[in-house]
Amino acid sequence: MAVPLLDLSRQYEYLKPELDKAVVKVLTHGRFILGPEVKELEEKLAQLCAVKHASGVASGTDALLLALNACGIGPDDEVITTDFSFFATAGVVSRLGARPVFVDIEPDTYNIDPNLIEAAITPKTKAIVPVHLFGQLADMDPIMDIARRHNIKVVEDAAQAIGAEYKGRPAGSFGDYGCFSFYPSKNLGAGGDGGLIVTDNDDNIELLRILRVHGAKPKYYHRIIGYNSRLATIQAAVLLVKLPHLRKWSEKRIEHARIYDEAFHGIDAITCPAVKEYSTFHIYNQYTIAVDNRSRLIDALKKVSIGFEIYYPVPFHLQECFAYLGHKPDEFPVSTRAAGKVISIPIYPEMTEVEQAEVIDTVKKAVS
Ligand SMILES: *Cc1c(COP(=O)(O)O)cnc(C)c1O
Repeated sequence: MAVPLLDLSRQYEYLKPELDKAVVKVLTHGRFILGPEVKELEEKLAQLCAVKHASGVASGTDALLLALNACGIGPDDEVITTDFSFFATAGVVSRLGARPVFVDIEPDTYNIDPNLIEAAITPKTKAIVPVHLFGQLADMDPIMDIARRHNIKVVEDAAQAIGAEYKGRPAGSFGDYGCFSFYPSKNLGAGGDGGLIVTDNDDNIELLRILRVHGAKPKYYHRIIGYNSRLATIQAAVLLVKLPHLRKWSEKRIEHARIYDEAFHGIDAITCPAVKEYSTFHIYNQYTIAVDNRSRLIDALKKVSIGFEIYYPVPFHLQECFAYLGHKPDEFPVSTRAAGKVISIPIYPEMTEVEQAEVIDTVKKAVS
C-alpha cells in the first residue's frame, strides 16, 4: 500500500463546501489585496500567538526578510542562527547584505544549541534567529536571556511551529518578531504561498505594515524603501476556514508521533525525536528519525511507495552558496552528523491506522 508523505486532498474532501464558498466570496467582493479576510486572519493569529499584532506577508521567507529588515539588519551586521534549517532562514540574512553566523545544534532536538550562542557573539551581532524545527520550540529561556544581556534582537523562525508551545507559551511570542509560513506542507497551509509576522510592539507593527507596501504611508509617499509583500486575500480566506481545525490536526499528529515512538522504542538503529520537558506542545510538522543505514531505509520505502523526505541533507555551512563564508567542513559536527542520518516519515493528521502500521512495518524491517 502506498502511503504519501502528505496528502492534502483528504483535507479538501471534508472542507470543500466551506473552502469553495470562502474563495468564491473573495472573487465576488474583489478586494484581492489586503482585503477584509486578511485583517480577520491577522487578528485571530495574533490572538493564537498571545501577542497584540500580526501582519500578513507573501511567504514565510518574506516574513523573515521583513522582520530582519525591521530590526535594521544590513551590511556589516552579523545574525546568529542555526546551521541546520530550511534555506530561507540563512538566505534572508545574506540577501540583506549581512553575514549569517552559524551555530551548531543539539543532537536530540536538532534545534540551535543555546550553550554555543554566546561564543558566536561579536560587536557586530545584531540579531539571533532561533528556528523551531519540526514543530518543537528551541530552548527559548536561555536564548532570550543571552539576547537581553547583549542587547540583541530575536526573530523567531516559527515557520514549522504555528500553535506550538514552550512552557505553555506560544511560538512567536518570545522574540521581537515571530515569523510564520503558510506553505501548503506546514501545519496551517494555504492554497499557495503565504506568511505572517507577529509582534507585541506597536511601533514594530507600524513599520511592518509600511514595509510590505513599498515603504509607503500614505500611498505613493515613500518613507523608506520597502517590499511588495502581502498575504493574498484569497489565501487568508482559505486559512480562516482551516484555522479552527489547527489544534485538532496538531493533536492528531501528536497521536501519530506517540504510536511511532512506541513502535520504535528499544530499536538501537532508530533514534526517535526527543520531546523536551519545556516543550508543552510539540506540533510535529515533521516526524524525523535518525538512522544509521539511511540508504537502505530509503530503498525499502521507495520499493513500497512510502513517502519520505530528508530535512535537511546539507547543513548551511556546507552549502555551495555559503562557501564565501569560509567554513571548514568539520566546524559543526552535530549538524553535519544529523544531515547524514535524518529522515522524515509520514505524520499528516489524516493518515490512517493501517497506513501508519505499514510505515512502521517497513521501517522496522529495513533497519533490522
Ligand atoms: C517553510 C520554511 C520557511 C519559508 O517559508 P516559505 O513560506 O516557504 O517561504 C522558513 N523557515 C523554515 C524553517 C521553514 O520550514
